[in-house]
Amino acid sequence: MSDPQESPEPTRPRVGRVYLVGGGPGDPGLITVRGLEVLRQADLVLYDGLVNPLLLQHTHAKAVRTCRLGGPEGRRLDQDEINRQLVVAAKAGLTVVRLKGGDPFIFGRGTEEAAALAAENIPFEVVPGITAATAAAVYTGISLTHRDHASAVAFITGHEDPGKTESTLDYSVLAKFPGTLVFYMGLHRLAIIAERLMAAGKPATTPVAVVSRATTPLQQTVEGTLADIASRAQAAALHAPSLVIVGDCVRVRAQAQWFEQRPLFGLRVAITRPEDQADAAVRRAWELGALPVLLPTIEIGPPDDWAPVDAVLSRLDEFDWLVFTSVNGVSGLLGRLWDQGGDARRLGRCRLAAIGPSTAAELEKHHLRCDLVPPEYRAEALAEALSPHAAGKRVLWARANRGRDVLPERLRQAGAVVEQVVVYTNRDCEQLPADALAQLEAGDVDWIGLSSPSIARNLARLLTPAVRRHIGIRTRLAAISPVTADAARGAGLPVHAVATDFTWDGLFTAMERTDTATASL
Ligand code: SAH
Repeated sequence: MSDPQESPEPTRPRVGRVYLVGGGPGDPGLITVRGLEVLRQADLVLYDGLVNPLLLQHTHAKAVRTCRLGGPEGRRLDQDEINRQLVVAAKAGLTVVRLKGGDPFIFGRGTEEAAALAAENIPFEVVPGITAATAAAVYTGISLTHRDHASAVAFITGHEDPGKTESTLDYSVLAKFPGTLVFYMGLHRLAIIAERLMAAGKPATTPVAVVSRATTPLQQTVEGTLADIASRAQAAALHAPSLVIVGDCVRVRAQAQWFEQRPLFGLRVAITRPEDQADAAVRRAWELGALPVLLPTIEIGPPDDWAPVDAVLSRLDEFDWLVFTSVNGVSGLLGRLWDQGGDARRLGRCRLAAIGPSTAAELEKHHLRCDLVPPEYRAEALAEALSPHAAGKRVLWARANRGRDVLPERLRQAGAVVEQVVVYTNRDCEQLPADALAQLEAGDVDWIGLSSPSIARNLARLLTPAVRRHIGIRTRLAAISPVTADAARGAGLPVHAVATDFTWDGLFTAMERTDTATASL
């Protein structure tokens, strides 16, 4: 090993590196391991309009959306400008990820970007992605190749470069192709594509499926034949992006569906957890088939003053019990212990109590096993479970700057000496995120999950009249526990479902139960 004294100060390499990465078709789980690795290393991410922004959770880099078509979410950038930005950033020594929908080299202009980098001698790597055709087919239950129905598959553009004078697509060849035809970018030209295939001899009865927004909770599939698919797709008012799949393999779709059957499929669910803590709930919503809408109403931050925390940390051995009523309580206290140079050994004698499984799981991340978790995840139940162990004991509660006082009161009644220390702050947001508010005002959100009393109260304060008129009709509210439900009602909000298991999973189950019950009325 070289002596660090002798090695020169590391300097930024003169030229950075660019990764052209396939971000997959929409489901944020459909990116490769290599893609994730390079996202984590990036200084700058340029992502295109088809990329799911949830992928940006994996990077601390500055992220810029590049929409070649422009639109509300992104500045319009033409391909030359994108190429130029990649070159400039790499020359400045940055690690750049160019994140593209699907696969970078399938109708993705990735080769043009690669060529621009090569021309400037910038090192680059291309990470393939799952292209929309294979993903859409799988998520809608179609096998593009099939022993009985399709011996080949072709990926075709339905929208050739408008600059080309003559089409390079020969429909008489396509009509004879011995397998499945998949058209990218073909939705707006569906009628022409179908007509040309039929005119070239493809039977009008050939099955066709159009899959819109594939692999997302808004996926929609319309089936028909070459003769009627254009009118069916129009009647369904499908959205871009959409793929057109033509061939007998569509006929065997019914046997292989799975994705559209997820319990919350197609529902838009607002997640009210603070933004930097919403990941697990967002992932779970997605797994259940729901589209998560981020709607934080409170912010979690460090305490205003660490001195009381540090004072308590210096005498942890005085306590018999450490009590945690939230994940933030655990990360606040133990994170500070670690940052101050301590570790779990300082907890030697203390026993540990957690309000519920998420809090207990957070302790496990620190390799600490909980001694007590009440059967019901609420302060009253925690107090009741702790009370038999409380007489004459010293209890420390790592808490937020606000919240109910049930726990210390009950423990004191049971004979404990209770100390409290604020290890994180919980503050009301002053406004809802603009994009979430717009969806709420349009009546496009099916459920709002309320995961604490303070979240419920602050949401009530921030909801506009335009949102309120959809509540109970298009938008329903679910509470994580009876305490949260009471807080919501107290703030004037109706509650349409209450979880019986006081976790986000429990919340999703309550939404599902209520939906099933409503559907069977
Ligand atoms: N490089 C991308 C394709 C870019 S071209 C890839 O490999 O998938 C854009 C076209 O891809 C869209 O017009 C549409 O036809 C298709 N597409 C991309 N994402 C899609 C999705 N989630 N659902 C349906 N089609 C999609």
